[in-house]
Amino acid sequence: MSIPETARAAFLEAYGEEPAGLWAAPGRVNLIGEHTDYNDGFVLPFALPQRTVAAAGPAPDGKWSVCSTLAPEPVTFGVTEPGEVTGWGAYVAGVVWALQDAGFEVPPARIALASDVPLGSGLSSSAALESAVLTALADLGGLDVALERRPAIAQRAENVYVGAPTGILDQSASIRCQEGRALFLDCRSYQIEQIPFDLAAEGLAILVINSNAPHQHVDGEYGERRKSCEAAAAALGVPALRDVSTAELPEALDRLGDDVLRRRARHIVTENQRVLDTVSLLRAGRVREIGPLLTASHASMRDDFEITVDQVDVAVRAALAAGAYGARMTGGGFGGCVLALIDAGRADATATAVAGAYRERGFTAPTSWVATAGPGATRI
Ligand code: ADP
Ligand code: MG
Repeated sequence: MSIPETARAAFLEAYGEEPAGLWAAPGRVNLIGEHTDYNDGFVLPFALPQRTVAAAGPAPDGKWSVCSTLAPEPVTFGVTEPGEVTGWGAYVAGVVWALQDAGFEVPPARIALASDVPLGSGLSSSAALESAVLTALADLGGLDVALERRPAIAQRAENVYVGAPTGILDQSASIRCQEGRALFLDCRSYQIEQIPFDLAAEGLAILVINSNAPHQHVDGEYGERRKSCEAAAAALGVPALRDVSTAELPEALDRLGDDVLRRRARHIVTENQRVLDTVSLLRAGRVREIGPLLTASHASMRDDFEITVDQVDVAVRAALAAGAYGARMTGGGFGGCVLALIDAGRADATATAVAGAYRERGFTAPTSWVATAGPGATRI
């Protein structure tokens, strides 16, 4: 069964009637621009074909109920404040709360979720869930929530209600990406530009390699990196590290006394520039040439930001050795996925090379697939 059919069947099973409609929102990979979002910087994600589908309809009891193929027993709640609904249902209660907090009259609803976005792999299943639910509730209630506002509302659900201090990248990607495009987002102004990203036309492909490495210490390390970036910005007397250019970097590094802060700042400043350089190349149709920027981004995440693990470093090395033009970890780090820019005909060979390197080291086998840029959140 397809994901939409699965969601519809789950709705029927849980609530005994057909849903009023189906809404889908994708997971994403970030082509480049890691940990730059909460530094008011630049990111360049594209939407995955994998998505979360919300089957939804009105609720006669005036409450909100939600179930998932992963948790078939519905969670039901009324008007709540952050912290009242816990577990995975908090992502849904968070969206209801954030919409209400933004002044919208959210329609009571019953929701069933199905998804093929891998959970906890840095492909943003959480934002896919929030975006699918937000889009469904907005349509069901006829709410006039401007597209530009939606990512920040979904982000508040995750930040304030769930309590995960993530930036605006994931929700922006899931809501605003377009098919065949990468989303160039300025995380300070929220200004976007849809960048043509048609790899097939160039005979290229992006191979996504899920390292399947167990995530460890993700939340603590993420918070730690945020604090370091804020401390570095404060020491430099700028609102955010976005405000330091690569030309100003050497002097800025001299002024930062602490070696850890220096390396964290260097990653953010150089990564922002790599996003800008990647966008320039893509605008000019020079897709193959973004490869070295991807690889440089990985080195910066590994050496300066220290967010990679052996499994992703090995995947990057093996993909490059197999002929990839560039490769990097994508997502917040400490596991998750690697993406490699390859010739379209080299997907199997690259995946096999990475799998072989994993086998040699006794790592859990990786999962690889070619990712094309899909559409953002929508009714289906
Ligand atoms: P990522 O966003 O990288 O996949 P997160 O830890 O941010 O990882 O989000 C994963 C969490 O989101 C899951 O642990 C679960 O609570 C929730 N979640 C995501 N998708 C679903 C789903 N289809 N059904 C139930 N819960 C989900
Ligand atoms: Mg997430």
